[in-house]
Order: sequence, then C-alpha cells, then structure tokens
Amino acid sequence: MTAEPVPSGQDRVVVVTGAGSGIGRALAARFGRDGAAVAVVDLSAEAAAETAKAIEATGGRAEPFAADVADTAAVGTMAAAVRDGLGRPTVVVNCAGWDEIQPFATTGPAFWSRVLGVNLFGTVAVTHAFLDDLVATEGRLVNISSDAGRVGSSGETVYAGAKAGVIGFTKSVARELARHRVTANCVCPGPINTPFLAKNPPKLLEALSKAIPMRRIGEPDDVWPAVRFFASPDAGYVTGQVISVSGGLTMNG
Ligand code: NAD
Repeated sequence: MTAEPVPSGQDRVVVVTGAGSGIGRALAARFGRDGAAVAVVDLSAEAAAETAKAIEATGGRAEPFAADVADTAAVGTMAAAVRDGLGRPTVVVNCAGWDEIQPFATTGPAFWSRVLGVNLFGTVAVTHAFLDDLVATEGRLVNISSDAGRVGSSGETVYAGAKAGVIGFTKSVARELARHRVTANCVCPGPINTPFLAKNPPKLLEALSKAIPMRRIGEPDDVWPAVRFFASPDAGYVTGQVISVSGGLTMNG
C-alpha cells in the first residue's frame, strides 16, 4: 500500500475517545481549534454531542459518535461511521477511561472485567478498528495511560494493571507499525482536575497537591502539549515512548 503523506492542520481527521468529559473533551477542543475535523467519541451520546457543539461554536469541525469502547461491535460501527462522516482518520487518541476507587480486596470479577474492558480492551479494540487508516496515512496513535500504570496506585489496583497494559500494548504496536511509518506513544497524566479525579476524597486531593512539586493538581489543558507533540507530523521519528504529565509528581527514567 502506498502511504499518503501525514496531513496536518486542516486536512486532519482526529478521533478522540472519551471526548465527552475531562481530558478527552479538552483534547478534542484543542484539535478542533488546530483546524482538524474531530470525531468526538464517548459512551454518552449527550456528552459527545455537547463537546462537538462546543467545537463547532468556535468555528471548528466536529461530529459526535456514541460508542462503548469495550464493545467490539459498537466500535466497528463507530469506526465505519467516522469514515463515512469525516473521512479517514490520521490521528487516533484513546482517552476513554473508567474506574472506581476502592481497595482491591472489596472488588470482584464484574468490576475487574469492566475496568479492564474500558481501559485496556477498549484501547485495543479502537486501535484495531482504525489500524488500516493509520497505516494508509502514516498516522499517529496516542494512548492516554496513567501514572498509576507506571508507579502503581492504591485503590486503583486493577486500573493500574490495565493502564500498565496500555503501555505494553502501545510499545508493541509501535514496533509492529514502525515499518509503515506509523507512530504509537503514551501520555500518562498524573492527577488532573476532572470528574474522574473528583471521585477521590477531598483530603486526598489536598495531600496530592501538596506532594506535587508544581504545587497544584493539573488541568485537562495541561495534557494537550504532550498529545499535540506525539500527534504532530514532525514527531515521525518518536515512537514507543511514554511521557508523564504530572507536575513532577512522578519522574520516571
Ligand atoms: P472523565 O471521567 O472526565 O472522562 C472520561 C470520559 O470517558 C467520559 O466522558 C466517559 O463517558 C467516557 N467513557 C467512559 N467509559 C467509556 C466507554 N466504555 N466507552 C466510551 N467512552 C467512555 O475522565 P478523565 O479524567 O478526563 O480521564 C480521561 C483519561 O485520562 C482516562 O483514560 C483516564 O484513565 C486517564 N487519566 C486521568 C487522570 C485524572 O487524574 N483525571 C489521571 C491519569 C489518567
């Protein structure tokens, strides 16, 4: 297959999952401002529609797509609808994620299955659904993992396992797709101010912000520069890498 050159700005079709809230919503908005056509994917049709509307209100192009990333059939339908509606994606950002903070001892198989399903299986399924598009366009895959997957996190045990899985998966995809000049990289947010983080007790959040060298919890927009870099046409020689965006809370070698 002959690859088309990596498009930038106006020509890009960017898929962002979990774009109905928090980090995914902020990333979708920034890609929209950058001139890309954004496929706003979320479990919640309403939340996806809200994000897409907000992007269009600022002059951008976006279309909402409702899908559960843990459901392979739904992901296939969504991928076909994205191609029909916006064209071939060149950038795929797996940002959908879910967890409930609780000690591992109190959890059971239904919970493990959902946590692994959304965070790991979902990333695998969405990546697989857009693989041909990434290869055809020398595209960019950016997976949102978590520092929980790099350094562990009590109360997020299975989630941390899923996010570590996302890192191993991304590195392996990066190796397999390098000959097609597709890159695959991971961004690991530290604590970021979203509804996801708000599930933690306020005391823990206060302690966290004191422990962060930058002395504040991150904002969704803080994640954008790392994602923008990995998604950019210029980052074609950077693949299989993992970067933390954590205000210095974690400093991985
Ligand atoms: P959020 O809860 O604000 O947003 C997550 C979005 O994902 C929601 O809109 C939700 O509807 C969607 N979603 C959940 N399950 C889905 C599914 N099965 N299919 C499709 N969409 C689904 O969370 P956030 O903080 O913005 O998190 C975004 C990503 O960043 C997640 O992958 C999360 O694990 C990761 N992360 C967040 C933090 C943090 O502190 N906020 C830290 C590290 C990593």
